[in-house]
Amino acid sequence: MSDQIPFNRPPRVGTEFTYAEEAFQFGQISGDGPFTKRCSTLLQEALGVPRALLTTSCTHALEMTALLLEVGPGDEFIIPSFTFTSTATSYAIRGATPVFVDIRQDTLNLDETLLEAAITPRTKAIVVVHYAGVACEMDAILEIANRHGIPVVEDAAHALFGKYHGKKLGTLGAMGALSFHETKNFSCGEGGAILLNDSKFINRAEIIREKGTNRSQFFRGQVDKYTWCDHGSSYLPSDLLAAILLGQLEAREKIQARRKTIWERYHSELADWAQANGVQQPTIPDGCEHTYHLYYLLMPSLEARTEFIAELKAKQIMAVFHYQPLHLAPMGKKFGGYEGQCPVTESIADRLVRLPMFFNMSEDENDRVIESILKIQVG
Ligand SMILES: *Cc1c(COP(=O)(O)O)cnc(C)c1O
Repeated sequence: MSDQIPFNRPPRVGTEFTYAEEAFQFGQISGDGPFTKRCSTLLQEALGVPRALLTTSCTHALEMTALLLEVGPGDEFIIPSFTFTSTATSYAIRGATPVFVDIRQDTLNLDETLLEAAITPRTKAIVVVHYAGVACEMDAILEIANRHGIPVVEDAAHALFGKYHGKKLGTLGAMGALSFHETKNFSCGEGGAILLNDSKFINRAEIIREKGTNRSQFFRGQVDKYTWCDHGSSYLPSDLLAAILLGQLEAREKIQARRKTIWERYHSELADWAQANGVQQPTIPDGCEHTYHLYYLLMPSLEARTEFIAELKAKQIMAVFHYQPLHLAPMGKKFGGYEGQCPVTESIADRLVRLPMFFNMSEDENDRVIESILKIQVG
């Protein structure tokens, strides 16, 4: 029996322990130590954003965006129904109501043609997700949002270093949120970052992240003592986690190149099989440089997907489905979600399957997944 191929293994580039050891040697492993600063600087320079702050997760980065936009009870926020729960919870936790919008058939991103109709006088934010690291139609989305004076937040959990017509994802809206969870391209286990693309948010973001205090200004010598100034929480990751993350961010070209190879092999070597079996492969529109975050297939039906996953599992290959429609989740229904509200999301959620794909995946494992799929007849 061959070894199991997991759906994911956390990325390892080899510098993790050396840097973690250095963090201990330096003598500070709480937040905002030297490695946190190096990660922030690297992100700011690589993305060209005024400020990038590491956070304990992407969820927390999104919660910070809700605090910065002063989202509260009575407000609405627009999100795609096909996303991770954090996109919804980070704003719902402030008492706001999610308004679910359906997705496009091709990129599985928020359908920009449905956006304007979802806007009301209470819309406080539009939170978009670049699914699989493929950009949303940001020109159209930003045009509509700007016309209504509504800020756009990018949930860029999949999208770090992806581009839309040459512009970097996470830097197009007012703010962006990144994830360094173990399933993401770059990871320290649990972690994230908030990208502040508009300088007006920087001061308050630093305060919110530091338990409502102006401690960051104090350390820069801008004030002579620090105190409670605003709402806040503890959104700083340990410098140990930043040490682990730094090595991976520095190795970003190597990580992305490896993921690209795996992704492209799936894409080209499964093309004829997909065509013959009524299976849809991902679409990457012109102008989108994606991040090779995940490789998915759209099966013709839920039954076909169930069988496909079982056949791969019998060969020790772990393929998995993805988001269930948020509007049909128990919480989504409490906010008025109903069957048929987002038909594309409902259909895609039942049919999508993700193949194993991770930085440390061997060529042999990549081959085995492809060979096993080529033997499956989708019925
Ligand atoms: C992973 C993910 C998140 C949450 O990230 P955490 O760092 O685990 O909080 C949010 N949104 C999307 C689209 C994700 O994929």
